[in-house]
Amino acid sequence: MPSVSYIALGSNLNNPKQQVKHALLALDSLPHSYLLAYSSLYQSAPMGPQDQPPYVNAVAKLATELAPLELLDALQSIENEQGRIREKRWGARTIDLDIVLYDHTIMQTERLTLPHYGAKERDFVLRPLAEISPLLIFPDGESVQQALQQCHSYELEKITTDNDQETVSRHEL
Ligand code: ATP
Ligand code: CA
Ligand code: CA
Repeated sequence: MPSVSYIALGSNLNNPKQQVKHALLALDSLPHSYLLAYSSLYQSAPMGPQDQPPYVNAVAKLATELAPLELLDALQSIENEQGRIREKRWGARTIDLDIVLYDHTIMQTERLTLPHYGAKERDFVLRPLAEISPLLIFPDGESVQQALQQCHSYELEKITTDNDQETVSRHEL
């Protein structure tokens, strides 16, 4: 049985919408993995340094046989392939791929914390997550809906829906 992981995508450089769509296709192409669902695209205000463009965000639901650290390696390879350069913390980037959840796994290691430590405080993660899995419960028992009511707001706006021509079309995947 594959595991189910939710991945938060974010981009604010070099045509962010295209970067997010490209990463969705890359996720679907990972070995032993396939996309189960993905959210609409959203726009949000940056966290941290404010002298950078707004972000485009989405969340993907991935079925995968990759172990958590193998998945992190794969996501970092996609980030590198899409030209991500790590400079200052929360600085502008072509693509950021965070593992929000991996089944109900709880782990804290140097390279990987599950669930992602910031997910429940960020509406740009929770809103798209709730869009694709409205009944989702975090491993600590809190629902995505409860978390959404308490999280920080980043001026989130939906910019495309699944029905838009602009989103990745099913037959592309
Ligand atoms: P934030 O983590 O606050 O969203 P960021 O995404 O900009 O900030 P990065 O520079 O992309 O931070 O990642 C820093 C490190 O976080 C990565 O090298 C990775 O080892 C680690 N990390 C820990 N937990 C996770 C997770 N659940 N998903 C992705 N990376 C993680
Ligand atoms: Ca992040
Ligand atoms: Ca990251």
